[in-house]
Amino acid sequence: MSPPVDLARALQPRVPSPLQEARDDRFERCGATLLLKRDDLIHPELPGNKWRKLALNLEAAAGRAVLTFGGAYSNHLRATAAAGRLLGFPTIGVVRGDELAHRPLNPSLARCAADGMRLHFVDRATYRAKGSPEVLAGLLELFGDVEVIPEGGSNALAAQGCTALGREVRGLTDVAAVACGTGGTLAGLAAGLESGQRALGVPVLRGGFLGEAVAALQRDAFGGEAGRWSLDERFTFGGYARTTPELDAFAADFEERHGLPVERVYVAKLLFALVTLAQEGAFAPGTRVAAVITGTPDVPAGPSA
Ligand SMILES: *Cc1c(COP(=O)(O)O)cnc(C)c1O
Repeated sequence: MSPPVDLARALQPRVPSPLQEARDDRFERCGATLLLKRDDLIHPELPGNKWRKLALNLEAAAGRAVLTFGGAYSNHLRATAAAGRLLGFPTIGVVRGDELAHRPLNPSLARCAADGMRLHFVDRATYRAKGSPEVLAGLLELFGDVEVIPEGGSNALAAQGCTALGREVRGLTDVAAVACGTGGTLAGLAAGLESGQRALGVPVLRGGFLGEAVAALQRDAFGGEAGRWSLDERFTFGGYARTTPELDAFAADFEERHGLPVERVYVAKLLFALVTLAQEGAFAPGTRVAAVITGTPDVPAGPSA
């Protein structure tokens, strides 16, 4: 499915995003090639997978208000707020946590508010139950006729939108790898590849729930599992937005080698995983490995999920 034409005309996303070779001795040593799929360049305010995931959802909303969910540092909330300002529809962000604990707003939420997003704080128990009919009914009662998009923007339409990412790298890579939060991007990426290619997901959250989440998204979006994909769950570094001195040093070194600003919450873990796999001999000589650069390090990541 391609992005809706009028939205694409209004936002001018840079798609297909560029695919660049990154000469890296750690890949060259095993005869493999590292490619960077620069989804971070798609749009300055809706970078990466956030545009791909929102496009069909915004078309479905058809100008109605959009209500969605996120943590205090959610890239998805920021992208939704920016889309609302750029395209002229109201946005409501349901944020996990006590309002008082979030005042003053962190830079990420402050930007959402500046883009006109109405922020609605709910306690953790309510947030956990956000998919339940009771909580949803309460939100609809408060906010009226809104299009509800789930946390992280991942639903069937999001996965369908992300098939474009897979189609863009057909014939150009053997492995397409992406960092995963909710798994919507991986679900669509894998479905968009052609036979002979495979997708690799690197979860940044702990818990081991992602395989089932991706399979469920694919069933919703495509009627069954689609494409070849797998997960490597060894690279969470303690969980969402957590890091270690080793990961920080790795990211700084990668920035220096390749002149690529490395987003720390997702992209650093993906790149660390791929370099580790190369060093482990996981890629046969001749293998092309495309790392999807899903974001930019514009707002500093905070400690809360
Ligand atoms: C949201 C996000 C992801 C995760 O995408 P999912 O579809 O939730 O797995 C990866 N990288 C960046 C930079 C993101 O903002």
